[in-house]
Amino acid sequence: MIIVMRSDATKEQLGSVIKWIEAQGMRAHLSEGEERTIVGVIGNDRPIDASQVERFDGVERAVPILAPYKLASLDMQPYPTLVPLNGLKVGGKQVALIAGPCSVESREQIMETACAVKIAGATALRGGAFKPRSSPYSFQGMGLAGLELLAEARKETGLPVVTEVMAPEQVGMVAQYADVLQIGARNMQNFNLLNAVGETRHPVLLKRGMMNTMEELLMSAEYILAQGNPNVILCERGIRTFETYTRNTFDVNAIAALKARTHLPVVADPSHATGHWQYVAAASLAAVAAGADGLIIEVHPNPEQAKSDGVQSLKPDRFAELVVRLRLVAEAVDRTL
Ligand code: PEP
Ligand code: MN
Repeated sequence: MIIVMRSDATKEQLGSVIKWIEAQGMRAHLSEGEERTIVGVIGNDRPIDASQVERFDGVERAVPILAPYKLASLDMQPYPTLVPLNGLKVGGKQVALIAGPCSVESREQIMETACAVKIAGATALRGGAFKPRSSPYSFQGMGLAGLELLAEARKETGLPVVTEVMAPEQVGMVAQYADVLQIGARNMQNFNLLNAVGETRHPVLLKRGMMNTMEELLMSAEYILAQGNPNVILCERGIRTFETYTRNTFDVNAIAALKARTHLPVVADPSHATGHWQYVAAASLAAVAAGADGLIIEVHPNPEQAKSDGVQSLKPDRFAELVVRLRLVAEAVDRTL
């Protein structure tokens, strides 16, 4: 349930409402908008009688939230969450552009890529140091050494770093190096991991699982929010269907359908969504046209030699060309890039 306070409600009136909620064994979550405060009642699924709450002075109305996610819902917060990313606010007018290799492979590779994407207009650098690979025999990432190289690349270019964390016990270490903690598709429902990143205040880029519904994605976001971390960015990265010409099926619907339900920013990953560099530009342009708040794109200076995801990685010059086209689409939908 959410309790909408009157615009002239006093602090004392709000305090009485919160006290009552806590006496019921539940938690009050405040969303303080410009006009009025919305109090979310968080706790169990037991329904509360709206008329009990509406008796309090200062309360305008009490409405149940029908969706199973609460903190993530637009009812709870009817204005967009802006996730801070090095001066940029993801979810605001400017479309975030996160680019870099699938995996960090060497100092030369990450430095060359970071400088190239920065010049092309990227606002953040991506690069995996801990890689979730389908085969145990595939390259698993450079680990800590990879994180150190990402930090060097940040120092050199000023680009904030987005990198994946795979296990709850790694969160502390990865958070020392990363500006944004990425939760990969395969870990979208690793609830211990969600709780662990929820305990930090680091922005989290939460990828949709390849076999998960949008509602399940929102429920996973709810885990992070429920731990007190409001900085969640959702990511559509393609889902598994019967189609084989592409690695996944880019669910462009998800951008609009998620934004109709949540205040959290939604970004798209056209690299994993298509699996082929040839289709990355089309999917990127479509994502921005559909209202995505950002893109995360794989770029590699020598895709032929990449240790992971070379087939879907853009060469830096192709990425630079794409950025020019993306700006035109962004402008057409009243965004900047
Ligand atoms: C990645 O970003 O390189 C990655 C492994 O993505 P996903 O979790 O979406 O497969
Ligand atoms: Mn990848």
